Amino acid sequence: MCAQSERTPILVAGAGPTGMAAALALRARGLPVTILEADPEDRDRPGSRAIYVHGSTLRTLQRVHPSLGTDLVDAGLVWPTRRTLWRGDEVFSRTYSTPGGSGDLPHFTSLPQVRTEEFMLEALAERDVEIHWNSTVETVESGAEGVTVTTTNGETHESPYLIGADGGGSAVRAAIGATFDGTQSANAFLIADVDEHPTDPRPPERVFHYDDPAVGGRNVLLVPFQGGWRVDVQCRVSDDPERMTGDDAIADLVGATLGERYADRVTWVSSYEFKQVLADRFVDESRRVLLAGEAAHLFAPFGARGMNSGIADADEAASAIGAAARATTEEVARDEVELCAARREAAAAFNEAAAGQALEHLQGDGFRTNARKRLAAAAADYWEPAGEWLDDAPYGPHDSPPIVSTGNY
Ligand SMILES: Cc1cc2nc3c(=O)[nH]c(=O)nc-3n(C[C@H](O)[C@H](O)[C@H](O)COP(=O)(O)OP(=O)(O)OC[C@H]3O[C@@H](n4cnc5c(N)ncnc54)[C@H](O)[C@@H]3O)c2cc1C
Repeated sequence: MCAQSERTPILVAGAGPTGMAAALALRARGLPVTILEADPEDRDRPGSRAIYVHGSTLRTLQRVHPSLGTDLVDAGLVWPTRRTLWRGDEVFSRTYSTPGGSGDLPHFTSLPQVRTEEFMLEALAERDVEIHWNSTVETVESGAEGVTVTTTNGETHESPYLIGADGGGSAVRAAIGATFDGTQSANAFLIADVDEHPTDPRPPERVFHYDDPAVGGRNVLLVPFQGGWRVDVQCRVSDDPERMTGDDAIADLVGATLGERYADRVTWVSSYEFKQVLADRFVDESRRVLLAGEAAHLFAPFGARGMNSGIADADEAASAIGAAARATTEEVARDEVELCAARREAAAAFNEAAAGQALEHLQGDGFRTNARKRLAAAAADYWEPAGEWLDDAPYGPHDSPPIVSTGNY
């Protein structure tokens, strides 16, 4: 139900995982699509970032591009063991004989985000999706007939719909007048990527260490991914993250947590204050522009709801636009887009609360939070559920938003 021809490409701003998933999901619904991406084609994307790809995301990707889910699984790692320590002592450990479950696709896989993006780019090429690199979206005007987008390199594009997947600093979000509001973690987190040791690798287990004495009593998370390790250290509020990410300091920290043989194998390091932020609306007045992924929300990474929920946003936006494009009345087309935005706003609020619960468990220094953790650590030796709770809580609840129609996030 639009003025432009049915063959006018739908526009997607941003070729991050959300934008690329949106383009694949639109193609799977028979719609032409063009991506406008600010970066050059030969860009370097930093760090491992979203290593934990949930099973529901694998299923979504497989559905929109058969082979994409299985490609990620073949390139990823399903670690069989989860283990938790409290001040140097193990309080929980469990090894699964079939850690991925028995379905066609596993419950999760672990690989660097940059690898996931490479597979998505290949899939886009197979689907003949045009990507305009060096094309930074500058202005967006939307009305009853569709959207006009201009880019800083002088292009003008017209389209019935636009998906704004242009990340945390989204120009599309600013253009539709949505505001971005929320909180930031009080302390910083250090994140280092470390190459696997070629001759003496560690066992592939995800380890959480509360108050690790080897790093001055800070919390440490070690996550294996295909080819390496992610070391995540929770700084104290009084720590100086810049000093702690210096070459010698990070080598010491990696040596103390993963083992001395890893000290010189760091490939990337950074520090973050994690944000918990939502756009106040995910859609424009004309119901022609939908925000998706980090353009719409930022979550602390515990529970891995960032990229996973961005891909769910993308798939649902494509589904709504597909339905709107087939609608024979303007009102029905508007409703499809509006309902999608309402569902994804509710999902984002749920995901934000879940990530916030994990953050509170890790950062909360109130009497209640600390007492629960100490009691569980004391009880873990003779009551397994106490140790299992300590193992689980850093990632927040496992539940999915109550109203998702595709994916789980
Ligand atoms: C340290 C760290 C660890 C993380 N760990 C996890 C994890 O374990 N699991 C998880 O699910 N998530 C994790 N995340 C989050 C995950 O990396 C992000 O959620 C994900 O990259 C968001 O994807 P996106 O496509 O929405 O945004 P982005 O990846 O930011 O992509 C946005 C794209 O838009 C482009 N762009 C920007 N502005 C414009 C413009 N004006 N015009 C055109 N293009 C534009 C950018 O160049 C970029 O290519 C982590 C993040 C960090 C930083």
